[in-house]
Amino acid sequence: MARVDALVLGAGIVGTSVGLHLAKRGLAVALLDRRAPGEETSYGNAGAIEGNTIFPPAFPSDPLALLRVALKCSPEANYHLTFLPYVAPWLLKFRAASSPARLMETARVIRPLFARAVAEHEALLAEAGALRYLRKEGWLKLYRGDRSFGALKGELALAQEFGISYRALDTEAARALEPSLAPVFRHAVHWQGVASVTNPLAVTQAYAARFAALGGVVVRGDARSLHRADGRWRVETTEGPLDAAQAVVALGPFAPDLLAPLGIKLPLGLKRGYHRHYRPTGNAALARPVVDTDIGYCLAPMEQGIRLTTGVEFAARDAPPTPVQFDRLLPSARQLFPLGEQAETATWMGSRPCFPDSRPVIGRAPGQAGLWLAYGHAHWGLTLGPATGRLLAEMMTGATPFCDPAPYRAERFGSRARELFADGLHDA
Ligand SMILES: Cc1cc2nc3c(=O)[nH]c(=O)nc-3n(C[C@H](O)[C@H](O)[C@H](O)COP(=O)(O)OP(=O)(O)OC[C@H]3O[C@@H](n4cnc5c(N)ncnc54)[C@H](O)[C@@H]3O)c2cc1C
Repeated sequence: MARVDALVLGAGIVGTSVGLHLAKRGLAVALLDRRAPGEETSYGNAGAIEGNTIFPPAFPSDPLALLRVALKCSPEANYHLTFLPYVAPWLLKFRAASSPARLMETARVIRPLFARAVAEHEALLAEAGALRYLRKEGWLKLYRGDRSFGALKGELALAQEFGISYRALDTEAARALEPSLAPVFRHAVHWQGVASVTNPLAVTQAYAARFAALGGVVVRGDARSLHRADGRWRVETTEGPLDAAQAVVALGPFAPDLLAPLGIKLPLGLKRGYHRHYRPTGNAALARPVVDTDIGYCLAPMEQGIRLTTGVEFAARDAPPTPVQFDRLLPSARQLFPLGEQAETATWMGSRPCFPDSRPVIGRAPGQAGLWLAYGHAHWGLTLGPATGRLLAEMMTGATPFCDPAPYRAERFGSRARELFADGLHDA
């Protein structure tokens, strides 16, 4: 029977970072996935390492904004009508977590983890020989109206208190940074401390290669085969069964597939999102990701072209793609930046794994000795992968965690937390 110290299930950016941090601490680690590292959700994101994050996205408080979503006119959100009964309980919890007091609490408790995001990536990229993917140009958030920019007041005050650097810019100052943008916006904020990567897949691959260089083993298999055997955790791989005293579930939006049968039912919701790559017209270019905040999309310069990522869609994880948000936002996007031909015909879709309080679960699995959880990173899996890897590896090896892990405990949802979409998540 092959045996390692720790099994990491899921080789997205989160699992690969956890595996790498464990391997750096001298553990024998196997990283298991049914695909090659980084090919699921971690493939298609906007590449922003958002260490500046203060408030998570909130449930809309403006009735008009809500109406636009309900009427399916909003570029930033879409939903499948048949999925609403399944997602409604989660949305209610999300709305409760969006009260000003709860948002403020979240902003304060998540800061230590986010504050380490860029530094942790930079360290791993350096040791993986992959610094060429890192861009330290910040990111630019644009505001077409005075109202949305004015609503930032509280966030900017908190940024000052937290020591997060930013510059509020007018149209021309923003265009000095990004000359290819048309002057269709009135305000911008340049979050200078944000970094970004030019190829998120290549970053996960580089971390996986570094993991292998340290003696880690990357194996193929179905994580759902995890079970207890002889007092250890055992998983079936294409190379035979593999045992370990400790196992980490880092399956992102797929974690409930494994956890629900083990009786671990946490309120994970999914926000699906899409991307397409476009060639810029002529010499147009972007030096950093740009968010058109009022419309709700991001233009991220990638090795493959300009990656246009959408906002959120509430639908069953495995339901067929419905990329209708592109039709709603493309006129605005083309007005802002001269997008040319699509660089590839395919539209990519992935699911952000989100808990209602927008925090991941990082720590011990309740009621299952030797089982650890690292999932639910929502809009920030790329951002937080390496910091999560460090935190969990410190917890698993008995070292002092660099930040308080309490905000990320699974038990915060209470002992009776139920998996809200146990039946509807996959095929509603
Ligand atoms: C449109 C969009 C834009 C985004 N932009 C950003 C951004 O700019 N910055 C940012 O920080 N985050 C962003 N995100 C979020 C980020 O991409 C995710 O939070 C992150 O990729 C989640 O990583 P993960 O490792 O938890 O999950 P995944 O990458 O999905 O990894 C889970 C792994 O588990 C494997 N797996 C699943 N089931 C099984 C099984 N049964 N057996 C074996 N293996 C299995 C999968 O193959 C996969 O490799 C964005 C997301 C979307 C959708």
